[in-house]
Amino acid sequence: MSLSQLARAIAESPTLRLNEEARILREKGEPVINLGIGEPKNKAPLNALLQSAARLTSGDVKYTPTDGLPSLKKAIIRYTEETYDRLVAPENIIASDGAKQCLFNILFTLCNPQDEVVVLAPYWVSYPEIIRMCQAIPVMVTPEDGGFHPRFEEVVRAVGSNTKAIILNSPNNPSGAVYSDDFVGQMVEFCEAKGIYLILDDIYQKLVFDGRRPKPGTAFTTADSESTKLIIVNGVAKLYGMTGFRVGWTIAPRELVRVMTNVQAQTTSCVSPAMQVAAEGALVGVQNVVESLRLTIQNNRDVLMQELRTFNGVKLRKPEGTFYALVDFRAYSNNSVELSNLLLKKALVVTVPGKEFGMEGHLRLSFAGTVKELQEAVARMKWALDPTSANEIYLGDRKLVRDWM
Ligand code: PMP
Repeated sequence: MSLSQLARAIAESPTLRLNEEARILREKGEPVINLGIGEPKNKAPLNALLQSAARLTSGDVKYTPTDGLPSLKKAIIRYTEETYDRLVAPENIIASDGAKQCLFNILFTLCNPQDEVVVLAPYWVSYPEIIRMCQAIPVMVTPEDGGFHPRFEEVVRAVGSNTKAIILNSPNNPSGAVYSDDFVGQMVEFCEAKGIYLILDDIYQKLVFDGRRPKPGTAFTTADSESTKLIIVNGVAKLYGMTGFRVGWTIAPRELVRVMTNVQAQTTSCVSPAMQVAAEGALVGVQNVVESLRLTIQNNRDVLMQELRTFNGVKLRKPEGTFYALVDFRAYSNNSVELSNLLLKKALVVTVPGKEFGMEGHLRLSFAGTVKELQEAVARMKWALDPTSANEIYLGDRKLVRDWM
């Protein structure tokens, strides 16, 4: 079949693929535990559901302005003022089908072929692929100390005359790291001074643990909304656990938003109004859902850490935010793809290989599920890997005996 080289070169999304594998196994009645996907178990906020249902019932489900409904933009302006201490205009905002489409539109709008976009490892799987789809080149910065916090000097070293943008994702998927205010401040000042776009992927912004309150990127610049190099990406997927609603938004200078709007107009036209009003409903509704989600997830993190501490050989770094832990399994294998496959096959636990995030030898474990699932998943992983653990286990009502070591 004659397909485009560019399209063929794009890798499949490993997280979505694994999610699909888990779904199929579950449909067959297999007691799979999915630590792969980043998706909280909560129901969407009631106000989001009511607004969305009312819109659907009214039958008024037509095209909206490409860049978003004015009422949604109003809610985003308020969110931005409260969270970033920045008053932006409606022309600085474009709503898209999830943060993923925001990132695609931004990079498609910014990049010429051969432009470079700097990505900090460990990084979200989709960044390099989206950058390539926009004909630009991803340049990875891997912390020399093997940790999850790249140093400012390491990032600067990766910047050259072709650097168009840098993506910063803190709290970070997949490591759960929250970058220090000092580091974010240095990055903001550097990018503003050098004229390099700094894309702040802030979708986990409110999922920070242990009372930490990181400053937003906007705290480190005096540039106004039109001259700033900061581009902020946000969305309802992680903030409210509304992953399937597919609403995200970008805050950027007007000219960038204007061109991004043309890009969106020629691709998806607009986000469904039923979903836009749902996002608006979540943003203007009671906000205790955000805090209760954060507390649930923080408790899950503590349970996961406690369970993993008794796992021989694995090295842990406590996540400071998000719902992901990137755990070092090199005591068992340096090949994270093989290890993840083994865990799925033998223990029916879905994990994501660290290789996909630029961290071979690690597995990303999502703790967005339930405490019971986390405890059971770690018990199964121990059984599958650790020869000192008991060699019999129940998976559902099936008793299994470990016979491969
Ligand atoms: N950025 C990061 C870092 C993510 O982890 C994700 C989702 N996993 C996204 C963006 C995309 O979010 P959305 O579902 O809003 O497209």
